[in-house]
Amino acid sequence: MRALIAGNWKMNGLRESLAEVAAVAAAAPGIAADLLLCLPATLLPLAPRELPLGAQDCHANASGAHTGDLSAEMLADAGASHIIVGHSERRCDHHETDAAVRAKAAAAHRAALTAIICVGETLAQRDANETLAVVTSQLAGSVPDGATPANTAIAYEPVWAIGTGRTPTPDQVAQVHAAIHDALQTRFGATFRILYGGSVKPDNAATLLALPHVHGALVGGASLKAADFLAIARAA
Ligand code: PEP
Repeated sequence: MRALIAGNWKMNGLRESLAEVAAVAAAAPGIAADLLLCLPATLLPLAPRELPLGAQDCHANASGAHTGDLSAEMLADAGASHIIVGHSERRCDHHETDAAVRAKAAAAHRAALTAIICVGETLAQRDANETLAVVTSQLAGSVPDGATPANTAIAYEPVWAIGTGRTPTPDQVAQVHAAIHDALQTRFGATFRILYGGSVKPDNAATLLALPHVHGALVGGASLKAADFLAIARAA
C-alpha cells in the first residue's frame, strides 16, 4: 500500500507560512508517498492546489445555527480533500466523545471527503495495560458504518507521544496497528490505511514507517517546516 504522510499544522500558520506549503507541493511529484497537509481552515483557500489539503475538524451538520463552526461541505468548498476527526486535542479540549467523532467522520463522508479518524491511549491507560482495549473501543465507537478504505484512514496516536518527543517502541506500535487492522478486517472485511502519529521526526520515520500495518504517518510539529516534512516523506 502506498504510504500517506499527512501533516497536521494544528493552530499554527499565517499567510506567510504558505511558502512552506508551496515547497512541499513543489517536491511532492518526486516522492514515492502520498502527501497531505492539514492546514488551519483560514489557509485552505489560499494554499496551492497541486498538493492535497486537509482540515483538522468539522461540525457534524451540513449547515445551521452553530456559531464559529465549519461544516465538512464548507471545508470541501475551501479546498480540503481530507478531514482529521477525533484528534486527542479535540477529544480532550472539547470533550469529544466517540459518538461525536463518528458523526464528524460520517459528515466528512457525506461531503465526499476522506476522514482521518484518530485513536490512542493516555499514558495512564498504557501503564494500566489498557492500550488495546482503549484503542479498539475508540475504533468501534468512532468509525461509522459507511467507512471504506477509500473514504477513511485511521491514525494511531498515543496521547503521551504527541508533541513530547517520546514514541512507543517499534513492537508497541506494531502491536496496536495489528489490533486495529484485525478489528477493521473483522468488522468491514477490508484493509484500511493505518497511520502512526506521535513525535514522528526525520530521524525515527524510517523505523516507524517500516513496521507491519504502518501505512504512513500523521505528523504534527515536524510538518511545519517543509524540509522536515519532506525528510519524513522520503523515509516512507
Ligand atoms: C499530531 O498533532 O497529530 C502529532 C502527532 O503531533 P507531533 O508529531 O508533534 O507529536
